[in-house]
Amino acid sequence: MALSTLWEKEVVGLQLYSTLSRRLEELSSDTVRMYVCGPTVYDLIHIGNARPFIVFDALRRYLKSQGREVIYVQNITDVDDKIINRAREEGVPASEIAARYTEEYFRDLERLGVNRPTHSPKATEYVAKMVEFIEKLIEKGHAYVVDGDVYFSVASFPEYGKLSGKVLEELKAGARIAVDEKKRDPLDFALWKAAKPGEPKWPSPWGEGRPGWHTECVVMAMDLLGVPFDIHAGGSDLIFPHHENEIAQAEALTEKPFARIWLHNGMLTVRGEKMAKSLGNFAYARDVVERYGTEAVRYFYLTRAYRKPLDFSDAALSEAKRAVEGVYDFLWEAESLPEEGEIPEAFSVELSSLEDKFHARLSDDFDTAGAIGALQEIVGAAHRFRQAGGDPAGVRAAAALVRKLAEPLGLFQVERPRAEGLTEELIGLLIELRAELRKQKDFALADRIRARLAELGVELRDTPTGTTWTIKGGDG
Ligand SMILES: [Zn+2]
Repeated sequence: MALSTLWEKEVVGLQLYSTLSRRLEELSSDTVRMYVCGPTVYDLIHIGNARPFIVFDALRRYLKSQGREVIYVQNITDVDDKIINRAREEGVPASEIAARYTEEYFRDLERLGVNRPTHSPKATEYVAKMVEFIEKLIEKGHAYVVDGDVYFSVASFPEYGKLSGKVLEELKAGARIAVDEKKRDPLDFALWKAAKPGEPKWPSPWGEGRPGWHTECVVMAMDLLGVPFDIHAGGSDLIFPHHENEIAQAEALTEKPFARIWLHNGMLTVRGEKMAKSLGNFAYARDVVERYGTEAVRYFYLTRAYRKPLDFSDAALSEAKRAVEGVYDFLWEAESLPEEGEIPEAFSVELSSLEDKFHARLSDDFDTAGAIGALQEIVGAAHRFRQAGGDPAGVRAAAALVRKLAEPLGLFQVERPRAEGLTEELIGLLIELRAELRKQKDFALADRIRARLAELGVELRDTPTGTTWTIKGGDG
């Protein structure tokens, strides 16, 4: 079988579990319009914040690999109580805090290997449109003004609670007794907040103030994507009230569905407790990347079901790092094999069925864990094939398949770090000498070669198919 026939698979469909319908939904659009709630820029993002960025970035890449166009919007909340508080602590304007952490957020996306969104709208650039939007809600009787604040009237939208599954009566019973006197109903939420002294403010028909967070996302999503758009995504902690409130405003106004499919990733936990800045049990994303590497973090997230909670630990990250290194050992070794040879039919068939498995897993609610499992099976099959004396061409084909399949997940694309010609040959020579010494059972001298090379920044790894080396500090 020729290599090329392995690659020409028909694109499979994609079913995604929607929190709104509580079932799998077929994603059929050729152009996928997608909104993912972004950061509030008052501090560096922690590794739990990074989960939706990584998971939905992988989904975006996968959709593109299926030949679809993806318009990916992720907002930046650059006006918020947390930003104002931080600005007060530091004695600087809120805009300075927002600008600083917006820049840091983009740097962190890069560290995490996450592609830039198609659009990264900032809330402060949309205030005029938000005012317009709120005016229309007031005209339609879905919102009311009290002393410069504007509230959404939850009672005016009978479908309220349909995303979270919360029942209005229960919500009311559970609402805090310390009711904000201004609201008609304790469940009503602010669309516009009257300015307090020293806060950022914009003009509006109701006096100076600033928009509420729930309104920001709705207006930016509607402006850049139109309604209904295909996918609205974010962390499961946003289902209520944030996303419920987004739906209420958008659908009350347009009388059309807001987003077709709602995706929510599970929370990152630490010993079972949600990772949160307020709980102090967090690690900054950049520190985790620094320690384990970009791909280990990605692998850690993508080898777990995205909807489930996931526990963060050094052991889990170290395991992910080892797994990533194992795949690179295989790839770099396989790619150094001679190119000539034939791929036996039986091995081609095995690879082809694992490729089908990879796609089948992804098409079933984007099961990246199952898909990466299929990649690891390809690596395992190639090891067995090689050990049984299989043709190097088969091993190379397996490596090429792993590279190709892993690309939309953002994994395993790094080339073996190369030293200059002579250095490379010298390292090769030392590896050969070390192998000879080990054969002669001179382990002490063999270990000295490894230790001295390590001191020079060259790390040797013994794999079932031979010894590979990397330059320390190279990615992967
Ligand atoms: Zn949002």
